[in-house]
Amino acid sequence: MLTRNHQVTPIGERTWMISEFGNSTMYVLEGAERALLIDTGTGIGDLQGVVRQITQLPLTVVITHAHVDHVCGAGQFDEIYIHPADIAQMNELTLEHRRWYARRAGTANGSLAEYSVEEDIVDWGKTPAVNLLHDGQTFDLGRRIVSVMETPGHSRGSVVFFDPKHRNLFSGDACSSLVLLDAPPEFAMIVTPSIEVMSVAACLGGLLRIKARGQEFDRNFTGHSRGGEPALPEVLDDLIGCCRAILDGTIEDKTYPDPVRSSHACATYRSVRIVYNETALHD
Ligand SMILES: [Zn+2]
Repeated sequence: MLTRNHQVTPIGERTWMISEFGNSTMYVLEGAERALLIDTGTGIGDLQGVVRQITQLPLTVVITHAHVDHVCGAGQFDEIYIHPADIAQMNELTLEHRRWYARRAGTANGSLAEYSVEEDIVDWGKTPAVNLLHDGQTFDLGRRIVSVMETPGHSRGSVVFFDPKHRNLFSGDACSSLVLLDAPPEFAMIVTPSIEVMSVAACLGGLLRIKARGQEFDRNFTGHSRGGEPALPEVLDDLIGCCRAILDGTIEDKTYPDPVRSSHACATYRSVRIVYNETALHD
């Protein structure tokens, strides 16, 4: 039987974080009539069973972006919502990508013994129906309305979700202490043809969109939370500052620890780091 040993943490009223063995974090939000699952992880074990232990309400599944560690559990569900700019990436991901990534992440965080890569990461079987996400779209869960905002940067089709009733932001990988705009060399195994190198200017644009609605949330839950905690409050401003410092040439530390692909840089700025490509500052 597929594992259900995911860690489930209540993080507020009718709101839960599911940790996929210490790496990806997913979120379940309940309203009066429906529930929303934000992201599906790498697809380790029986995610649907874990969600069903939390809620029995009709479920809508939404994806922040189509990286291997966020979209690859989607095959356990009948339909998903995803931004059109990320669909090609999703379709290129394979079982081998998922197993490679899970081995790497599980080795890095010490969780590899908690599941079987061979038995708990399996083919989708069926392909879920794909619905499109767009800016300003809302999901009415029943006395709880969650809205979508496009925030291109970490990927072209990255979106974040606002939960104004509980003043939460769910930001995937778009607004956390480490933002990747270009896949680090060590992730070459999971870089598929449609994955774009994103510009620093595009990332700044997405972050400024979040900042413009900063009054609407108190907590920013990311796609890789530790211990049920939201990101530090200063992360958004520090990311904006980091992008600006890269673009105006004042970033002091941009060393990337890789001698082979010298176009990679990693800017460190206050509480955040951004991995970017020095040939892709502007669109
Ligand atoms: Zn990602």
